[in-house]
Amino acid sequence: MIYLDNNATTRTARAAIDAMQFYFNECYFNASTSTAAFTGADRPREDAAAAMATLLNAEDPTCFIFTSGATESNNWLFAALEKNVLRGRVIVSAIEHPSISEPATAIEANGFEVLEVPVDDQGVIRLDLLEDMLTAETRLVSIMAANNETGVLQPISEIGRLVRRVCPSAVFHTDATQAVGKISIDLQENWSDVDMLSFSAHKFHGPKGVGGLYFRSGLELTPLLLGGGQEHGLRSGTTNTPGLAGLAAAARGVDLCAADKIASLRDQFEAHIKAALPVSIHSSHASRLPNTSCFSIQGILGDELAQSLAGAGIIVGTGSACSSGATQPPKTLLAMGVNYQTANSSIRVSLSSETTFDELLIALETLTLLNKELCSFSK
Ligand code: PMP
Repeated sequence: MIYLDNNATTRTARAAIDAMQFYFNECYFNASTSTAAFTGADRPREDAAAAMATLLNAEDPTCFIFTSGATESNNWLFAALEKNVLRGRVIVSAIEHPSISEPATAIEANGFEVLEVPVDDQGVIRLDLLEDMLTAETRLVSIMAANNETGVLQPISEIGRLVRRVCPSAVFHTDATQAVGKISIDLQENWSDVDMLSFSAHKFHGPKGVGGLYFRSGLELTPLLLGGGQEHGLRSGTTNTPGLAGLAAAARGVDLCAADKIASLRDQFEAHIKAALPVSIHSSHASRLPNTSCFSIQGILGDELAQSLAGAGIIVGTGSACSSGATQPPKTLLAMGVNYQTANSSIRVSLSSETTFDELLIALETLTLLNKELCSFSK
């Protein structure tokens, strides 16, 4: 199998599996009892917080709360807002993942005013329009760091500075699910205006079903789940010690030095595919994640192509990974003004540090063959 869908999920790293195995087989004790310091069951959470603080250069490991992943972290943000804040304006981008856009729509029904910042034709948010939208009533600005479909990076430092300057009381959140582990993030330097940040371990070679929320010291968060008082009383439920041990190992294993090699493979792949096929590569003039290529081949449905590739043992993404199987074209491309037919023809190739040039060559050859077959079918 040639796996080119690493924005959907990644292979769990060996070190993460080994770390988890110990907490499944040997140290399977409860992390929240008074004996945890003796059994060692309190270690994974501490390790996970320390590893995330190092990876993102956060000011303190206590700024991390662990959840089942980014979907939960993103939903929590809106639940906390509803409980805490009287009412006001919420600003999100037009290309957010559904775990942001759907709760945003839901709180609109409860009296919040929700505005979507448009993106330009490369998928970068319009800072001028964001500035116009910021008012003293703005409670929350949530803009994703990297788009899951195109890989486009948003100017998080500039957005943060803008929010601080125009509306200092607003909370600035970024869904960094696709960015963590792929680009350098520094919460005390270039991202020092980010108040909250969501992530999922399985996007950076950790296990599925574990992730978290960073929140800057001094910010208050209302509890999401009530019960045993775990996660400093904010998110009750028996601590997922194997998951956290895996997350910690994966975070420690992130190697940002691989980014240049990955980007070079992606660029070679795009150069080859442009020479061989009638393709449009989306967002190629924007700053992108090093591993992502989203393109449309004229006259072929993206979903059909992805299924034929899967039949040939090559896994790529179509649309949003979370809605794979759906025939809807990626909403990000539509928001960029790409026409419906072209958007519907798109597929996404997303690499990891494990991807080889030979795998990409096989994918290219197969794409070329399938292009001939699928085009002659549609004639
Ligand atoms: N945000 C973004 C940008 C994503 O790509 C995803 C996963 N596709 C999520 C949030 C949700 O992550 P999870 O499914 O791990 O909760």
